[in-house]
Amino acid sequence: MKRVISGGLILSILALFAPAAFAQQCQAGRVSLQMLGTRGPALWDARASTSYLLWLDGKARLVVDAGPGSVRNFGQSGANYEDLRVFLFTHFHVDHSSGFPAYVKGGFFTDRTEDLQLFGPGGNEYLPSAEQFVQRLFGQRSGVYPYLNLFVDPAAVSSYKIRAHSIESSHENPDERKIYADNQISVTTAAVHHGVLPALAYRVELAGCVIGFTGDMSGRYETMPGLARDSDILVAHNAIAEDETGVGRLLHMKPGYIGKLAAQARVKQLLLTHLMKRSIDRKKETLRMIRENYAGPVSFPDDLDIIEP
Ligand SMILES: [Zn+2]
Repeated sequence: MKRVISGGLILSILALFAPAAFAQQCQAGRVSLQMLGTRGPALWDARASTSYLLWLDGKARLVVDAGPGSVRNFGQSGANYEDLRVFLFTHFHVDHSSGFPAYVKGGFFTDRTEDLQLFGPGGNEYLPSAEQFVQRLFGQRSGVYPYLNLFVDPAAVSSYKIRAHSIESSHENPDERKIYADNQISVTTAAVHHGVLPALAYRVELAGCVIGFTGDMSGRYETMPGLARDSDILVAHNAIAEDETGVGRLLHMKPGYIGKLAAQARVKQLLLTHLMKRSIDRKKETLRMIRENYAGPVSFPDDLDIIEP
């Protein structure tokens, strides 16, 4: 007797296999994530504050945050400033942004010719917007370093410009937004809650791989599980322990929340960074809280570590 495979069955077979067959696979050998800074703002050890570098096909393409000390690690990494296309800032606290002017000064001595795209949240009374950040650093009248104005003044002669883009971050606008795409990389962002500070999380897609960055956030907007969905790597900030009750609780995720988030987003690999004294001494307990919901690989990477999806 002949077996007849009906159209319906074919459709259901396709439905079974299509997601795996047609979903873009992460071309793991092409992408790596290097830690340029794995600590928070405190002054207690010899590590840099928050910063991450994404490599694609052996070239340094994108930096997330530029905390103090991270520029030295950028030099150590062997990356070229000329190859960078994008700087993403999760927010403009000192421990995430104060290294940036050092890149711009150091970049003066490179052969960079392509404009540098810079993204960050909009501002409020506590923090500048991305555009204000750049203007208040390098603006002719308002800048701390007006001698570097040539990189932001459209009328000045310079080999490249810094193009700053402010992305509104608020509870009223929680939707994901695609903010950047070139022929190899795309970036999507969503607002996250970090006390009263405007803050963004990011989803970077390159060579079929998804790398997520929570930045500093408390989890109150609940935007991150969606933004981080199916991340090959999620970098989550572990700044507090589970029993934190102080102001840190308003600003940061508890380990238990990180575990739930990673499980809900089906994260393939979880990295815990932005460690502070109050979290680094509690690693065991942190892991136990995360394991209540998330079974995948978890690590605490160090500065300059390279992580592959
Ligand atoms: Zn921070």
